[in-house]
Amino acid sequence: MNTEKLSERLETVARFVPNGSKLADIGSDHAYLPCYLVKKGIVPFAIAGEVVLGPFESARGHVEEEGLSDKIIVRMGDGLDVIEPGDVNCISIAGMGGALITSILERGKEKLGEIVRLILQPNISAVTIRKWLLENNWQLVEEEIMEEDGKIYEILVAEKGEPHKPYTSNLETELLLGPFLMQKQGEAFSRKWKMEAHNWQRILAQLEKAAPSTETTAKRQELLQWINRVEGALK
Ligand code: SAM
Repeated sequence: MNTEKLSERLETVARFVPNGSKLADIGSDHAYLPCYLVKKGIVPFAIAGEVVLGPFESARGHVEEEGLSDKIIVRMGDGLDVIEPGDVNCISIAGMGGALITSILERGKEKLGEIVRLILQPNISAVTIRKWLLENNWQLVEEEIMEEDGKIYEILVAEKGEPHKPYTSNLETELLLGPFLMQKQGEAFSRKWKMEAHNWQRILAQLEKAAPSTETTAKRQELLQWINRVEGALK
């Protein structure tokens, strides 16, 4: 991967960045995504945010090497702290867990006023992000799921709007699996959820052997509910 050729995962994230956006890429690491988007002429300006010194220096180095320092500002800081009012209108956060992405959004809530689109790529626990979006008036407008090097990734795109719009009365299942992904299904989707259900079945079998307690009974019920939701959703 380099600033010309992204991984398929980051290329999918890039596809959702609207032409002409001013982008903040939070947790940018090597800054490949903003460099790629600026070089392609998709974004005129970007901020690459990093909280850790090593990746921050790597991002700064790549931006300088590419001669993009007038178009990409690399800032060191925690989450959305790197954004000043009027800087950007689009945010990408990719390659982290869903809980970390959600905590970055929650902590930086007051920075989201001028943001029109969020592009979020959790490595795990997309459900945590979907719940946060719903509770914070962000409408999920698109979802993608893809497999690369044996790993499955989800990409969630949200805009301000009607947060309940993509959901039906089957809310809990749609929050878990993704309302758009459930409609589209596809190979990566079915592979991911068959693996998850298989894993839960394995844990369930272990719990059956454990001495019954309030906790194990509650956990069993929870697992059974998840398995039923997933099996019911797979076409
Ligand atoms: N976004 C790139 C990608 O998708 O390939 C890099 C992903 S890398 C696995 C995650 C990066 O997020 C790390 O460089 C880490 O230092 C950074 N990070 C983690 N928490 C952060 C936070 N609160 N604020 C900014 N960056 C953060």
